[in-house]
Formats: sequence, C-alpha cells, structure tokens
Amino acid sequence: MLHSVETIKMVVDSAKAKGLKVGFTCGAFDLLHAGHVAYLSAARQMCDVLIVAVNSDDSVRAQKGPLRPIRTQEERCALVGALRCVDAVILMSDRRPNRLISMLRPDLYIKGGDYNHRQLNSAPLVEAYGGTVVLIPVRFDVSTSATIKKIVEASVHASPASTSKAYGGLILLDRDGTIIRNIPYLKDRLKVELVPGAVTALTKLQDAGFELAVATNQQGIGLGYLTFDEYVAVNGEMLRKLGTSGVRISRIYTCPHSVADECICRKPQGEMLRRAMADLGHDPGRSYMIGDAESDIAAAADAGIAARLVSESPQLEGGNRESIESAADWILLDAAKSGKEVGQCR
Ligand SMILES: [Mg+2]
Repeated sequence: MLHSVETIKMVVDSAKAKGLKVGFTCGAFDLLHAGHVAYLSAARQMCDVLIVAVNSDDSVRAQKGPLRPIRTQEERCALVGALRCVDAVILMSDRRPNRLISMLRPDLYIKGGDYNHRQLNSAPLVEAYGGTVVLIPVRFDVSTSATIKKIVEASVHASPASTSKAYGGLILLDRDGTIIRNIPYLKDRLKVELVPGAVTALTKLQDAGFELAVATNQQGIGLGYLTFDEYVAVNGEMLRKLGTSGVRISRIYTCPHSVADECICRKPQGEMLRRAMADLGHDPGRSYMIGDAESDIAAAADAGIAARLVSESPQLEGGNRESIESAADWILLDAAKSGKEVGQCR
C-alpha cells in the first residue's frame, strides 16, 4: 500500500484518464482513532480514489516536538493503508503537502474541519490548477494528544496513593550523577550503574511515605548525540535496577532540548519540577529536590522547594556536596522538624 511518488503519480494519472475523481489528504495519523477513520471514510465518499500522505517521523517531530510521533512512520503507514477507504499511501517528508500537491494535482484536496479555508496555505495552489479544497467537519471529539493525556492520567491514578505513610511529599531527583553514574550523553543501557547508596537513600525516603520522580535535562537528544529510544532504554535499565530493590519511580520528566533551543523546561528553570508537583498532586512545601548540579539547586529554588546538592563521590569532591544517603537523612530530619507529617491525605 505504501508507494513511491512515481507510482502514485501513475495511479493518479491513470485514474484521471478513466474519468475518476482523485482525492488527496495528509496528516500524522499518530495513534489512529475513530476521528481519523470517520474523516478518511467521509473523504473517500467524495472521490473515487483516495490518496493519503502520512507525515514522516522527522516532519512530525519538527511540528510536534521531539517526543512525537508515538508510532513510527512504518507503523502509521501500515495502519492507514489497511483501511478500506484508503486506496494508496505515500510517506511525506515535508511538513506541508504543497510539493506533492503540485506533482499529483488531485481533483480534491481534503482536510479535517479543525482548519478553516483561509488557514490552508495550500488552497491557492490547488485552486490555481482547477482543483477544489474540501473541509470535512470533525465527527469525534478525539485527538492523539488528548489520548496521550488520558493514558498518562490513568497511569497516575492507577498507582495506589500512600495515605497511611508519614510525609506524603514528593522527592524530585536528578538522574545522571545522582541516581546513576554520570556518563555524558549516555546511550548504552549496559553502562548504567547505580550511584553507591542510591538504593538505600531512596528506600528510606519511600518507606517514610515520599513519592519519587525524576527530572532530568537530556540535551544530548536535542543535539542528536543519542536518540529518544536510546534514552528510554537507559531509563528502563535504571528502573529495572531500582525495581529489583523495591524502589519505585512514579514518573520521569525530561527536557530533551539543547541550550540553544531556549526552552522553558530545562533546569535551572523550575518548570519540570512544577509540572511534576502539579501532575502528582504535591505542593512545594512538602517536596524536595536532590541533584548533583548547581542547575538542580537553582531549579528547586525557582520552584520554591528545598534542595540538597549531592555527588556520586563526595569524598573526592568535598566542598558542600554530600552523598545521596546523607541528603536523604537530612530530608527526613527536616520533614520531621518542620511538621510536614501533618495533613497526610492527598
Ligand atoms: Mg546530574
């Protein structure tokens, strides 16, 4: 079902020679849903041959950020191509369809109704060669982004809340140099090694009723030194190692952008920490940050939470750095001193 531009051009020309009406549409079609199917079925009813251009992984990333698409271009093309209403699929590496439209000159250029005619910058191009732009109203109030949000919410609420434990706060942890040994731009999961004392420290905090989450800058992804999949595999190995000792991390927050991207999520800004507290239902007064960089401490200050500066080898570095175990002890003491055990339910 997936065709080259040349083959599609032949399909279109031969259909037109037979007097058939050719329709063209495009999209990311990440996590195919009822809205996509209803829309493509309606599109097919308006023409005799429906060609669908599926955005390549790179073009989706350029539009929706480095964490999308969820499904690869091969999977997305296979799913769209398997629909009865779709006659042919082509992979589109450009963000916009203008080049393909100029080449194929379909009778109808069809888009879902979340656009208006003037928003479509392809409209003048289509109308110039005598084609028609058609907008189809959305029948299902559903989108891939909304689906992802629902899954995340379900995973948060599926985890049993620790209402009987003492503190009920959140510990935000940096990853590299704090939980696992710091290896710049680590992409090989076999090199993941836990920092000495990390399991002991995290177990103590968890047993005292704290929830654990990670907030990590990973500009290696934005710079292209490692892929998001490699990064996820490293996290998987870290979670496996922690999990065998009973340590559970609720969520991992990642800034995949490079410094040059000037994003709002990268530490030293507090955005990731604020988002974690909002998502997981904690407030700054009952939360702590543990990290091995000044940017971790600055992010905590920005988010209004207390922080401890650690080192994977404090005996070598000295200064004001401590081990993660000592940081955990300090936090437990501070939480007890400041009466953070009051108001256990959340
Ligand atoms: Mg670090």
